[in-house]
Amino acid sequence: MIQKTTHAPRSTSNATTPSSSSIARLRAVAERADLADVAEKVLAKERLTLDDGARLYRADLHAVGALANHVRERLHGDLAYFNVNQHVNYTNVCNKLCRFCAFQRLPGQAGAYVMTPEDAALKITAQLDEPVTEVHMVAGIHPKLEYGYYLDLLRAVKKARPSIHIKAFTMVELDQIAKKAKKPLAEVLPELVEAGLGSVPGGGAEVFSERVRKLTYHLKISGDEWLAIARTVHRAGLKSNCTMLHGHIETIEERVDHLDRLRRLQDETHGFQTYIPLSFHPDHSEMAHVPGPTAVDELREIAVGRLMLDNIPHIKAYWILMDVPIAQLALSYGADDVDGTVVEEKIYHEAGATTPQKVQRAELVQWIRDAGRVPVERDTVYNVVWSGDESLARAGEHAPVAG
Ligand code: SF4
Repeated sequence: MIQKTTHAPRSTSNATTPSSSSIARLRAVAERADLADVAEKVLAKERLTLDDGARLYRADLHAVGALANHVRERLHGDLAYFNVNQHVNYTNVCNKLCRFCAFQRLPGQAGAYVMTPEDAALKITAQLDEPVTEVHMVAGIHPKLEYGYYLDLLRAVKKARPSIHIKAFTMVELDQIAKKAKKPLAEVLPELVEAGLGSVPGGGAEVFSERVRKLTYHLKISGDEWLAIARTVHRAGLKSNCTMLHGHIETIEERVDHLDRLRRLQDETHGFQTYIPLSFHPDHSEMAHVPGPTAVDELREIAVGRLMLDNIPHIKAYWILMDVPIAQLALSYGADDVDGTVVEEKIYHEAGATTPQKVQRAELVQWIRDAGRVPVERDTVYNVVWSGDESLARAGEHAPVAG
């Protein structure tokens, strides 16, 4: 059954109204790709079905991209968001043994490390000369770290830079932290917030399919558990992102089901800010024989995400994974965000990512301009910090969030 979208993200003041000739062109492109009925739903802001989603994965990429770009411009016009952030991966010790992971080390294994809260704080103070607004802090599931460690970690980072927004702990880490605290997560979250937690990233969702979980990440929380934890996070008043790890053994139907389950939770909580398709990087993992996604696959994942996730405001082309040229192209295939300056990313570089570990703010601005979009620096929750668009240039003006 086709549903009207009831929780569509609000448009920005920059959202464009397409001309009748551009709508006619869009209809023609969609018709040639046998997507005329899908195009009509997109134009009418109607929710796409699971069958529509599966067709989008099989149809001509550029037609799918044109439809996604229509939605992207309807919501955000030419704006493309980025932030000035840094990553801190506080430990690579993990006992979950996910087969696609090249980052994990077992306790005592060569290369294993755990940062003390003071070590993490030093990473923050090392960047005090940079206009960093966010730290993205995720890590492995270390079986021996106690609850107090996580609180101390947050406090140390916040003390090192009180203005920083701490986006930390995937749903998988939050599950572990609550177990260590021996309390329900709903009771733990206010304590983490009190210590400095500002929002939650979107990783660890992988692909919700139980078939995929049994074959690739059987020791980690299930899709149902990931979604339940996200629901608790949102009910605690925290925003999060959401992801899907694509390009390994998952089927098209499993991807569509994953997107639908994110969409249904968003209908309920409105807590997801941004969807980020994560490209599988096979190098140095147990699944090194799996080729991983191509650039075409990455662009399609962005486009299908934009079209299916009609209630999530932002779609991110994560440049550290996709590489800069593909992220630039993705800004015309549905994406409106490219992530940030990063500084020392470990998880995907262990898996063979060859992108830089850091970019300067000015480079990000130029990449976005070169892609034909208007750069907007945002904070973690999409307040505008700076804009290349004069009309949004007032500091603190709020970018769109789910309505
Ligand atoms: S993906 Fe995360 S949970 Fe899985 S092994 Fe790697 S660090 Fe551990």
